[in-house]
Amino acid sequence: ARAQIGVTGLAVMGRNLARNFARHGYTTAVHNRSFAKTQSLIADHGSDGDFIPSESMADFVASLERPRKVVVMVKAGAATDAVIAELVPLLEQGDIIIDAGNAHFPDTRRREAELKEKGLHYVGTGVSGGEEGALNGPSIMPGGAPESYETLGPILEDISAKVDGVPCCTYVGPDGAGHFVKMVHNGIEYADMQLIAEAYDLLKQGLGASAQEIGEIFAEWNKGDLESFLIEITADVLQHVDAETGKAFVDVILDRAEQKGTGRWTVQNALDLGVPITGIAEATFARALSGSVPQRTAAVGVLPADAGTWEITDRDAFVEDVRRALYSSKVVAYSQGFDQIAAASQEFGWNIDRGAMARIWRGGCIIRARFLNRITEAYERDENLPLLLADPYFTQTVGEGVSSWRRVVSQAALNGVPTPAFSSSLAYYDGVRAERLPAALIQAQRDFFGAHTYQRVDKPGVFHTEWSGDRSESAEGDA
Ligand code: NDP
Repeated sequence: ARAQIGVTGLAVMGRNLARNFARHGYTTAVHNRSFAKTQSLIADHGSDGDFIPSESMADFVASLERPRKVVVMVKAGAATDAVIAELVPLLEQGDIIIDAGNAHFPDTRRREAELKEKGLHYVGTGVSGGEEGALNGPSIMPGGAPESYETLGPILEDISAKVDGVPCCTYVGPDGAGHFVKMVHNGIEYADMQLIAEAYDLLKQGLGASAQEIGEIFAEWNKGDLESFLIEITADVLQHVDAETGKAFVDVILDRAEQKGTGRWTVQNALDLGVPITGIAEATFARALSGSVPQRTAAVGVLPADAGTWEITDRDAFVEDVRRALYSSKVVAYSQGFDQIAAASQEFGWNIDRGAMARIWRGGCIIRARFLNRITEAYERDENLPLLLADPYFTQTVGEGVSSWRRVVSQAALNGVPTPAFSSSLAYYDGVRAERLPAALIQAQRDFFGAHTYQRVDKPGVFHTEWSGDRSESAEGDA
């Protein structure tokens, strides 16, 4: 037994993670259900480092140093359960299973609890960065028991992305915390992508600009506050020309966005926790709308627009308005996502350090961005910050762009351009900063039809009005 780490599941992600371990000097045991993938890894990339290939799971496990560290990189769901069932009888006390697939965090909680009873560590680990990240340095979000991080952490930090020499990997929290944070990362990714798409649409419709021209605008934006992987690839995609037709590539793509489910999980969990993540939710629903073919077919050319037409006199000012609206809406989406992390951390006793999460998202992952430094700094200033938007840096930078945001959202509405994420983010901003919300009326209605009671602004207690009787008010607890 001499492998320091093992990987089972050698499809694109597992193969690249295994190569990453080997390239960092770790003797890496490799295994896959069908041996052909193991063989091709060795044939194609054996020279990357020191691999120990095994055909059987038993040989694979036997090739690992103790405590064994087995990375499972198979399809999430039943496949993961099947691999665990095969592994468990072969492992011993203190061994560590690292589930690096995209598991749903309740599954991770269940598996962790089951394996803990058997004396095994189960480390549900978020891995972001796709194929490329897995090979060259992903962002890694490991959960599970803190003890497991003592031996595992240094290896994962070693193979993770680095920003300013700091690894994009840290211990997240107990049981499902790692997979939870990865889920919210993906939800935020949905919001980021939708906001970029709305900005593109506004520039296209407002300015009548070509994809090439809009690509140049995004490339310019990528030099400022918005600098990020997603803005960078957007500039690239928009400037790409379709080889077959010679048209802008984006113009020959069918306008239906698909999803694999992590955005949906994020929204479902936010509903459970009662956290308003409107940016992520609108982004998820916008994908659903794009794929609602029968509804869109029934509506196109049928629903009247009665919309105005764009009359932009100052092109640069409009571009700047859209940039600021994008930035502000993005801050809202992150603020909401970090609220969700705080709420889940509270609910499940995870004690997640939000500043550290922003730090490990700075590199390797899909939402990597310069602006995450600002989020880390905000939580360093106040680790209990109740609202990211209320951090002085964000209050100022978003505040400077509020009038731009309002102009963009109102022009979009007047001219019939859908901006669900821009508009709902602005509505959230106005809602959360409102001194008084119309929720008072909702409480009154609830008391009227359901005797659900209400509280008053002028005295403590819980009250009910006899709406169908003499309309007298009684305090709860009164005889
Ligand atoms: P896939 O999700 O396509 O899974 C294929 C792998 O799972 C193969 O190794 C396959 O083995 C194995 N497998 C499937 N069913 C079983 C089973 N019942 N028993 C044993 N092994 C099984 O591979 P990816 O590399 O794309 O992704 C791996 C994991 O990483 C997934 O959970 C995914 O969600 C996650 N992930 C993927 C990212 C990406 O960009 N693709 C990014 C981040 C995470 P065999 O070869 O024998 O069929």
